[in-house]
Amino acid sequence: MRVLVGGGTGFIGRALVESLKRKGHEVTIISRNQAPGTITWNEISKSPLPECEAVVNLAGENIMNPLKRWNDGFLQELRNSRLETTSTLARKIADAKIPPKVFVSSSAVSYYPPSDTVEYTEDSPPSSEDILSNLCIDWENSAKLPQGCDTRLVTIRIGVVLGRSGGMIQQSIWPFWLGLGGRIGSGTQYFPWLHIDDMTGMLVHALENDHVTGAMNGVAPEVVTNARFTKEYAGALWRPAILPTPAFVINCVFGPVRGKILLEPGQKVIPKRTLELGYKYQYPQLKSALADIVK
Ligand code: NDP
Repeated sequence: MRVLVGGGTGFIGRALVESLKRKGHEVTIISRNQAPGTITWNEISKSPLPECEAVVNLAGENIMNPLKRWNDGFLQELRNSRLETTSTLARKIADAKIPPKVFVSSSAVSYYPPSDTVEYTEDSPPSSEDILSNLCIDWENSAKLPQGCDTRLVTIRIGVVLGRSGGMIQQSIWPFWLGLGGRIGSGTQYFPWLHIDDMTGMLVHALENDHVTGAMNGVAPEVVTNARFTKEYAGALWRPAILPTPAFVINCVFGPVRGKILLEPGQKVIPKRTLELGYKYQYPQLKSALADIVK
């Protein structure tokens, strides 16, 4: 299968490209930058979609980038980097002479508003009152294909992806290794997580199986809190985790809006449709996922 991967240079994208190539698929990355085996977003927007059987979009400015201050400009960058890339691909797919069989688009578990009581499945509604939930609603809408377009659309609502080469583990492994890691705030907030191999596994499952369509929660079946995650993470590294990170430190580093993502109740997300659609997890349990990641 020929697969176009937007954001194929990122943490999840690199792992997906490697996994697709291992399975014998042909991959072209879409990036802002020119490189061999890559086409740019600029080129995509100016010409018809290159012939392919599948399209995936994983592009997006990193929300938790501590080097960027939260302000209107950054929020706009978060929105543009997701909505414009996704809507460009949706438009090109709709206009293609021979459209691809499948379009897999990403979203995030922040589609669901934070709550310490509600259990969310793919059927749960979002909340237009929450800034990140709103972003996800618009992100998912930007992937919509016109009626009559035969391309299958799959949207993966991704949780915190755990892997050595990027994301929150890469950002936190040194403090944890030095025994400086700790729960965030109260630690009671839900922590919807997923091993990077299951992230790529889920994407490949969506690409290769014609019955897969609609929303899938990109989280593991085992639900944990931040405190439980912290304990298991430090335990996997044989380190203590006794120093909680207070709320004011989080708010200082990330600002109050992003601080809320880490300090609010989080989302208790169940991968109901993901399981019904036949995805078999390699790491359904946190302990074995972390053992693999830190080994
Ligand atoms: P990365 O932060 O690694 O970035 C992915 C790619 O997005 C980058 O390689 C870059 O590609 C492109 N990109 C970055 N900033 C911009 C920008 N301002 N405009 C256009 N493109 C940009 O992301 P991940 O691989 O971690 O995540 C992939 C997707 O999944 C993202 O949309 C993310 O929001 C979502 N997600 C990820 C989670 C995680 O835990 N990792 C959790 C929930 C959702 P290039 O430089 O080649 O253009």
